[in-house]
Amino acid sequence: MAYEPLSDEQREIRDLIRTLARERIAPRAAEIDEQGEFPWDMVELFREHEILGLPFEERFGGTGTGALMVLVAIEEISKVCATTGLILALQELGALAIKNDGSDEQKERWLPRLASGEWLPAYALTEPGSGSDSAAMRTEARRDGEEYLLDGSKRFITNAGVAGLYVVFAKTDPNGGHAGISAFVVEADAPGFEVGRIEPKMGIKGSTTGEVFFNECRIPAENRLGDEGDGFKVAMRVLDRSRPGIAAQALGIAQGATDYALEYAKSRETMGKPIAEHQLIAAKLADMETRCEAARGLLYKVGMAIDEGVEPLTKLSAMAKLFCGDTAMDVTTEAVQILGGYGYMKEYPVERMMRDAKITQIYEGTQEIQRLVIAREMVREARTSALAGVA
Ligand SMILES: Cc1cc2nc3c(=O)[nH]c(=O)nc-3n(C[C@H](O)[C@H](O)[C@H](O)COP(=O)(O)OP(=O)(O)OC[C@H]3O[C@@H](n4cnc5c(N)ncnc54)[C@H](O)[C@@H]3O)c2cc1C
Repeated sequence: MAYEPLSDEQREIRDLIRTLARERIAPRAAEIDEQGEFPWDMVELFREHEILGLPFEERFGGTGTGALMVLVAIEEISKVCATTGLILALQELGALAIKNDGSDEQKERWLPRLASGEWLPAYALTEPGSGSDSAAMRTEARRDGEEYLLDGSKRFITNAGVAGLYVVFAKTDPNGGHAGISAFVVEADAPGFEVGRIEPKMGIKGSTTGEVFFNECRIPAENRLGDEGDGFKVAMRVLDRSRPGIAAQALGIAQGATDYALEYAKSRETMGKPIAEHQLIAAKLADMETRCEAARGLLYKVGMAIDEGVEPLTKLSAMAKLFCGDTAMDVTTEAVQILGGYGYMKEYPVERMMRDAKITQIYEGTQEIQRLVIAREMVREARTSALAGVA
C-alpha cells in the first residue's frame, strides 16, 4: 500500500470524496466542459455532503478538518473534473481574507453562509491593466460618512455572476502605492455593483470568469477588512494560503491524466503487445507517476505546515504552485501523446485535461511570478552556515 501521511479520519473523508468523484462528478465532467455552463448541480452535491464546509472551523458551521484535508479533497475532485475541483478551491480563496483578517463580527456574518455553501465567494484583485503588477490597480474606494463608494472594475474574476460576496481590493489612497490599497467585502446586491461579460475560454469551461463593475458602488464602512492601507498585505496573505489549492487542482488533473493513460496503455496494442510494454511509453508512464508523487510530497508538506501553524508560508506555497502547475501541463501533454490520435479527440478525457491544466500555470500568480517570489525569499534567507568551510 502507498505511504500516505493522512490520519484514519482524513483517509475516510478522502475515500468518501473519491467515491463521490467517481460516481457523481466524473460522469458530468465532459458535459460541463462541452456546455460551458456553471455546474450548479455540483454545488448542490457539495452542499448535500458538506464539502464546502471543509475549509471552515466547526464554530462557523464547517467540518474543522484542516488545510491538508481541503487540499486532498480538491485533488480528488480535480482528478475527474477540474471545474468542479475549482469550486472548492474558490470557497477557500474567497473566504481567506475574512478568515485571516476579518473581525469576529465579520466572521460571524459571512463565514457560516460560506461554510454551508449557501453563498459562493469571489476574490477580486485583477484589473484590465493590472494582473501580475497588482499594486497598479485603479479601482478606488472613497469614504463617505459610514459608507465607502467604490469606482472601477475588475477582470478575470472566478465565480463572477454566481458569487454572493466579492472580496475586493481598491485604492483608498490613489497615490499611496502598495500602502494605499484596502480590502472590502462587496455583497452581490450592493447598489452600483454589476457583473459584465463572462469570458469564453480554453479550459475549466464550467467555471465563470468575468468582469465586475463598481459604479459609485455603496457599501457600509463595516465591510472593510483590516485597516485602511492594509489591503495589499491582506491580498498577499490570501495568496500564500490559496496557492496550494491551485497546486492541488493541478496535481489532481495530472494524476487523473496519468491514471487514464496507464489504463489505455495496458489495453492498446501495437506490434503485438500493449503499448505499456514498449520502453518509450513505459518511460513516459514512469516519469508521469514520479512527477505526481513528488508534487504530492511538496503539496502535502504545505498542507501539514498550515495545519501546524508554520509561518511564513510564502516560499513553500509558491514552490507547490510552481511544481504542481508545471507537472500538470507536462503530464497531461504526455498523456495525450500516449493516446496518440485518440488523445487529440474530445471523446477521450485527456484532451480536456490538457486544456484544463494550462490555467494552473497562469492564475493566482503566473509561474514566472512564483519563480520571482521563491528567488526573492531565497535571497532573504540567511544561509551562511551552509557555506561553512567552503572555500
Ligand atoms: C481563468 C482565469 C481565472 C482567474 N481568476 C481570478 C480571480 O478569481 N481573481 C483575480 O483577482 N484574478 C483572477 N485571474 C487573473 C490572473 O490571476 C492573472 O491573469 C494573472 O495573475 C496574470 O496577470 P495578467 O493576465 O494581467 O498577465 P500580465 O501580468 O500582463 O503578464 C503577462 C506575462 O508577463 C509575465 N510577467 C509579468 N510580470 C513579470 C515580471 N515581473 N517578471 C517576469 N515575467 C513577468 C507573466 O508571467 C505573463 O507571462 C484569473 C485569470 C484567468 C485566466
